[in-house]
Amino acid sequence: MRDKITFENLHISEEIVSSIKNIGWKNPTDIQIESIPHILRGSDLLAQAKTGSGKTAAFGIPAIQNTVTSDGLQTLILTPTRELASQVSEELNVIKGEKKISIAAFYGGVSIDSQIKALEKGLEILVGTPGRVIDLLRRGNLKLENLNLLILDEADRMLDMGFFPDVTWIINKSNNDKQTLLFSATFPQEILNLSSEIMNNPEHVITSQYELEIPDISQKYSRIGKINKSWALSNILSDFNYEGQILVFCNTKRIVQVLEQRFSKVLDKRISSLQGDMTQNAREKVMKKFKSGDIDLVFSTDVAARGLHVDGVKLVVNYDLPNTVDSYVHRIGRTGRMGLKGRAWSLVSSDELGMISLLKNVHSLELTETEIPDNNGDNHQLFSKKKDWNEHSDLFGMISLGINVGTHDGLNHQKLFDWIKGLIKISDLAVGSITLNDDNSIIEIHKSKVDYIIGAMEKNKGLGKLLNVEIV
Ligand code: ADP
Ligand code: MG
Repeated sequence: MRDKITFENLHISEEIVSSIKNIGWKNPTDIQIESIPHILRGSDLLAQAKTGSGKTAAFGIPAIQNTVTSDGLQTLILTPTRELASQVSEELNVIKGEKKISIAAFYGGVSIDSQIKALEKGLEILVGTPGRVIDLLRRGNLKLENLNLLILDEADRMLDMGFFPDVTWIINKSNNDKQTLLFSATFPQEILNLSSEIMNNPEHVITSQYELEIPDISQKYSRIGKINKSWALSNILSDFNYEGQILVFCNTKRIVQVLEQRFSKVLDKRISSLQGDMTQNAREKVMKKFKSGDIDLVFSTDVAARGLHVDGVKLVVNYDLPNTVDSYVHRIGRTGRMGLKGRAWSLVSSDELGMISLLKNVHSLELTETEIPDNNGDNHQLFSKKKDWNEHSDLFGMISLGINVGTHDGLNHQKLFDWIKGLIKISDLAVGSITLNDDNSIIEIHKSKVDYIIGAMEKNKGLGKLLNVEIV
């Protein structure tokens, strides 16, 4: 934040400055300093700034300032999730202070009747998800022919393949001469290309075209197989010691449900979850309690990845790695907001390593490989660590075992092969290549047989001595 620039310097009206002061904000953030003048001037704008940098107010303050009381719907803000629509509407309602304008969030999963009533009473700023906005347009209750301002929050998400048809449908129902603003922390190139289609000579406020800007978040990752991720998470949680709230992201609703149940049973913490199959009522309850600090730990799908601001979140765990770089950036961006420090920890199984190398090598993110901490604080282990041969095996499921005998001990391929076949019942196919060195050998064994063969090798003196067996 640049201390010298004040909200007054940005030509924000006295009314709004005084309500901002009431909230307790001292100075505008960088993105607010850079975007507000463009917006007040009436330019279209594409604005990129890192997660948690105050983008909501960057578009919210000028939107409110330019709104005329009792002049009908003037601003439409679209967001990808219901929770975010609700959060943006709440923040704008605080910023507007005493100004007599009506701002509301419209989304699915709740009764449409009260929304229709609100429209009839007169609404100046509408924050909504595309589905419900389309619904209201189709029914004829909502008209967008006199818009002054269209804002896409999380704009890259709103213009990606999932939302693009809906968003363009909505835009086509609105007048052409409105102002359009796009805000996000990430703008992939294909979305930048697309953005010119819905804007006129836009101004650009972009931190860096090539680098992803990440707030002050320490990013760790640990290599751990799928079957041991619960063990790893429980150790990370106990090591973290609940010094702040925790958000754990999973890739499917099912895993969210399973983990909520599993961890609720064993941890004496306030645990909840957030995913798209829950009723809207339940989702809202969880968000409210999470924001007020009444929940310690939330398991969530990507519904919570974009835009949500919960002051107390100090640790984000990726139980699964997300499928895109941008999703990673938004997920971890739920912590480390507004200049505070945050921590992120990703659990990475062997099939997810490609994403780690993309994040590190292509996008230069500072991810540090870290061992899962020991659970020495707790005297009872919640989950035990299981052998996970998948993590050691190659594409064909083979695992290399090293033994401390070789050609100097008089071994050759045939002798070694026969010895293995004599140890346990094992098909030829489950024995892979055999490499003989002077005083050690490496044998590939299929993962399905590894447990048995290691046990048998370590007990057998058929090669002249007791052996040390290790995974290579
Ligand atoms: P972003 O959209 O960039 O991820 P948000 O708009 O959600 O970030 O803002 C993050 C938090 O910062 C919110 O709690 C918001 O109320 C607060 N905030 C916004 N502007 C300021 C400011 N100028 N000074 C202090 N806090 C601010
Ligand atoms: Mg935001």
